[in-house]
Amino acid sequence: MTRVQFIQSLTSQLERRGEQTRGSLRVEMDELQSLHDQSVGDFGDRGIEAHASELVGKLAESESRELAEIEDALQRLHDGHFGDCLDCGKPIPVNRLRAIPHAARCIRCQETLESGRLLAA
Ligand SMILES: [Zn+2]
Repeated sequence: MTRVQFIQSLTSQLERRGEQTRGSLRVEMDELQSLHDQSVGDFGDRGIEAHASELVGKLAESESRELAEIEDALQRLHDGHFGDCLDCGKPIPVNRLRAIPHAARCIRCQETLESGRLLAA
C-alpha cells in the first residue's frame, strides 16, 4: 500500500471514529443531564452523584477534544494537507498515523509541544 492509499484508507476510519465519538458524547451528555435532574430532586446520594457527574464530565471532555481532533484531521484530508506535521511540515510517519490516525504532528513536534505545555503549567 502506498502512503496515498494508506491515507485514503484512513478517511473512512476517521469518519467512523468521529461518528462513534459523537454518539458516545451524546450518551454522556444525556447521562449528565439525568444526573443533574436527579440531584435537583430530593432523593439519592448527592456525594455519589457529584462524583459520577465529575467522571462522566471528564470522559465527555476528553471525547469532545478527540472529536475536535478528528474533525481537524478530516478537514486536512479534505484540503490535502493530511499527514504533514503542523509544526515542521514534514510527513508524519505511517506507523504513527496507524496508531493515531488523527495525529496532527510528528512525534518530535508533539513531544516539544507537550514539554512546552508542562513548562507553562
Ligand atoms: Zn514535526
